[in-house]
Amino acid sequence: MSDGGDLVELAKRRGFFLQSAGAYGGVSGFYTFGPSGAALKQNIEDTWRDRFTIQEGNMEVDAPTVMPEPVFEASGHLDGFDDMLVECPDCGESHRADHIVEDNTDIEEAESIPVAEVEELIAEYELVCPTCGTGLAGQAIEDFNLMFETNIGPGSADPGYLRPETAQGIFIEFPQLAEYARNQLPFGVTQIGRAYRNEISPRKSLLRVREFTQAELELFVDPEEDEPALEAVADVTAPFYPAADQEADEGQPYEATIREVVDEGVVGKPWIAYYLGVAKQWYESIGVDMDRFRFRQHLSGERAHYAADCWDAEAEVDGDWIELGGFAYRSDYDLSKHDSYSDEEFTVFKQYDEPITVERATVDPDMSYLGPEFGGSAGAVADALEALAERDPDAFDGSEVVVEVDGESHAVPVEKTNFGVEEVTESGEHITPHVVEPSLGIDRALYTALDHSYREDEVDGEHRSYLTLPAAVAPTTVGVFPLMDRDGMGEYAREVVDELRGAGLAVTYDDSGAIGRRYRRQDEVGTPFCVTVDYATLGEARDDEGESAAPDTVTVRERDTTAQKRVPVADLPETLTALRDGERTFDDL
Ligand code: ATP
Repeated sequence: MSDGGDLVELAKRRGFFLQSAGAYGGVSGFYTFGPSGAALKQNIEDTWRDRFTIQEGNMEVDAPTVMPEPVFEASGHLDGFDDMLVECPDCGESHRADHIVEDNTDIEEAESIPVAEVEELIAEYELVCPTCGTGLAGQAIEDFNLMFETNIGPGSADPGYLRPETAQGIFIEFPQLAEYARNQLPFGVTQIGRAYRNEISPRKSLLRVREFTQAELELFVDPEEDEPALEAVADVTAPFYPAADQEADEGQPYEATIREVVDEGVVGKPWIAYYLGVAKQWYESIGVDMDRFRFRQHLSGERAHYAADCWDAEAEVDGDWIELGGFAYRSDYDLSKHDSYSDEEFTVFKQYDEPITVERATVDPDMSYLGPEFGGSAGAVADALEALAERDPDAFDGSEVVVEVDGESHAVPVEKTNFGVEEVTESGEHITPHVVEPSLGIDRALYTALDHSYREDEVDGEHRSYLTLPAAVAPTTVGVFPLMDRDGMGEYAREVVDELRGAGLAVTYDDSGAIGRRYRRQDEVGTPFCVTVDYATLGEARDDEGESAAPDTVTVRERDTTAQKRVPVADLPETLTALRDGERTFDDL
C-alpha cells in the first residue's frame, strides 16, 4: 500500500498519469495518461472486453460522446443529474455539500440525504469551507447539474451535451440492436468509452475527475423467463455488506459465495449476483487486493426509484472506501422512457411457444353518422373509439359511449360504433425488456490496482519500490538488457527484443546504467520479467563474473521474488507468453 502522495509522485515520474495542461497551470479533473499509464489502461480495458464482452457472448458498440438534448430529457439527466453545491461566502470556492458532511462527521452516503437536512447538518456540526475555514452555516445548497453543455452546429438552437455515462448511447439504439440480436432475449451490449461530468470539486487524483472512461454492459432480459448461468460463478466468494448490516449497530461485511447470497435472498436479483461474481474475478485479475474489496448494497435512500436492487463494488484506498463500479437492476425504466419520448418502439416481439386465441374488441364507426355529427373532429373521434375499445371494452356496455378529443367530450350511440368482439390468434406479444447494468469505471480500477500493488522492500541492501501488477495488465511484459552494451551483447539483446516483439509481447530495451538500476526502473513500472544477455549467452565463460559458458541462454528474473533462472533463447517467446497469460508459473521453469 502506498500513501496517496507516493503513488501520485511515482505515477508522474514513471509515466502513468499526470494532471494535464501543466504548462498552462493545469486544470482540475483532467489527466493525461503517460506511456506506462496508457498501456496499463489499454490492457485493463482489453481484459474487461475479454471477460464482459467476448466470454459472455455480448456485442460491443462505440457511440458518440456528444448527444442531443432530447436524449437527456428522456433519460432524466437534464432534470435530475445534480450534485449538492455549497459556495463559501468568503473565498467563493464551490464544494460538494454532501462530501463536507461525510469528511467531517461519521455520516456516510450523505448524497442520499435530502438537501434541507444537509443544510441543517452543516449548521449543527458547524462545518467550514475546506479551502479557507469560513463557517458554512446558513449557506444555501444549490442543485448543480453535472453535464457539460455544448451546441451542435453554429448558433445555440441545437443544444447538446457531453454524455455523462456511456449507457445512453446503447439505450437509444435499442431498436436496431435488438434486430442485430434477432430479437432474442437475453442479449447484452457493451461499450468502453469516455464519459464527462463537471464535478464540483474533483479530488483524489484519478478517483474523481471530469473526464473518465467507463466500461458498461447493458443486458436486456425477459424478466419472466431469463435466468443467468449462475453455476459458472456460484463458488466465487466475496465480502458482502447488505443494507441491513450497514444500518445495524454492529453490522460488518461478511464473506459469502454467490450461491449463498442468492439462496439467502441477500442479493435479490440473480442476474446482479451473477455479474458480481464475474466482476469479482475481473477485479482480482487486474490486481485489486481482495482483502480491501467488498460489495456494498445501496441503502434505500441511495437507490434510484426504478432500481429494484443496486450494489457497488468498493475498494479501500488511502483509508476510504471508494466506489469502483455499480450493479443495478434497472427494470424497464430506460427503454420505457425512450419508448415514450421518441418515435420508435423500444420493445421486442416475444413469440409464444404455441399460438393462443384471444378475444379482441373491435369497432368500425359509421362515418356517415360521425361526419355530419362531429365535422372536422370525426376522424379523431373514430380513432379515440378504437383506442377505447382496446383499452376498456366495458365502456361499450351502455347505449352510448363517451370519448375525449382535444379536451372535449363527445357522446356516440353504441350502435353507430359497430362494436363487436372477435376471436383472434396471436403468435406472441411485444414486451419491454428489463435492464441489468454493470457500470464500471476504468480510471478508478486502474488507480486502485496501482495503489494495491505498490510495495517497498530492500534488495541487496538497497531500497526498492515496485508494483506487483499482474503480468496480464502490466504496461510492459519484459525488460531486455545486455549486461553491458559491448562485445556483441547489445546486438544480441536487440535481436532478442525483435524476436519477442514479433511474438506479440510488450518489450522494453534498456542498456543505460548499472544493471541493478535497470531492474529497479522496471520494478517501479511493474514489469514482471527481465531478460539479461550476458557473456554466458555469447558462449563465453568469465571467471571474474562467476559465469560459465551457457551459449544462447539468458537469465530471466521475476520481479516480485527477484529470483533468476536461465532459459534457452529459443524458448523465450513461448515461455514468456505462457507466463504472461498465466499458463505457466515462474516456479515451473
Ligand atoms: P460517485 O457517487 O462516486 O460520484 P456514481 O455513483 O455517480 O459515482 P456511476 O454513475 O454509478 O457513479 O458511474 C459508474 C462508475 O463510473 C463509477 O463506479 C466510477 O467508477 C465511475 N465514475 C463515476 N464518476 C466518476 C468520476 N467523476 N471520476 C472517475 N470515475 C467516475
